Amino acid sequence: SGAVRFDDVRFAYDPERPILKGLSFEVPAGKTVAIVGPSGAGKSTISRLLFRLYDVSGGTISIDGQNIRNVTQASLRQSIGMVPQDTVLFNDTIRYNIRYGRWDATDEEVEEAARMAQIDSFIRMSPKGYETEVGERGLKLSGGEKQRVAIARTVLKGPPILLLDEATSALDSHTEQEIQDALEKVSQGRTSLVIAHRLSTIVGADEIIVLDQGRIAERGTHGQLLAAG
Ligand code: ADP
Ligand code: ADP
Repeated sequence: SGAVRFDDVRFAYDPERPILKGLSFEVPAGKTVAIVGPSGAGKSTISRLLFRLYDVSGGTISIDGQNIRNVTQASLRQSIGMVPQDTVLFNDTIRYNIRYGRWDATDEEVEEAARMAQIDSFIRMSPKGYETEVGERGLKLSGGEKQRVAIARTVLKGPPILLLDEATSALDSHTEQEIQDALEKVSQGRTSLVIAHRLSTIVGADEIIVLDQGRIAERGTHGQLLAAG
């Protein structure tokens, strides 16, 4: 379950200036679709609409065939796990940060989520028997590492749909590879919509949609898009 569908979706923050101009696409249950495109194309707007921070001006967004207009915010929040671009972490252990919001999770469940997000080494890293802490005197995490902590937190909550706004911070190629591996693991069997800022982390997406000025300019797999030039 968790199929997401956009049907001729139109949206404008300001009626004079349309942002999405009739957008249709589908994320079949369990599949991964990535949205790419230049800054200002409307990518983040798509995730805000799916989360119902705004209502569409035309067309429909549905989850498993149900128009999200008829779904409560609370139930949307349970269905969609949002991994924001920039995550603020608490000055506490990585374990605490992953468990945040799922206090009933067992240690095994937390560790499994950490493994999927490829941060289990952080949890174990404990120079003097203490768990690694995030914070001023603790571990300094890169943008990509912080995002993986956020991914683990979301995965632990277990929503059927994952909405991921990829970190925009510059990542070295090693970190990019780790993010790609983490995404590959956590997206297994989960419906994933990824707002992507780099093609290299979404090579395996089932479909990539190139958005330009609120319209789909191109779509296909990574290979198809490369072949089309
Ligand atoms: P992207 O994520 O592709 O960079 P956005 O969806 O953030 O694009 O923005 C699309 C367009 O909508 C941009 O021109 C942006 O300036 C405008 N926009 C974004 N948020 C708002 C807002 N809250 N109010 C008015 N205009 C906005
Ligand atoms: P399939 O449905 O074919 O098993 P997946 O849904 O597991 O494929 O995802 C395939 C690829 O999509 C992954 O290898 C990864 O590169 C990319 N991907 C999946 N989920 C995400 C995500 N949340 N963020 C960025 N890229 C993702």
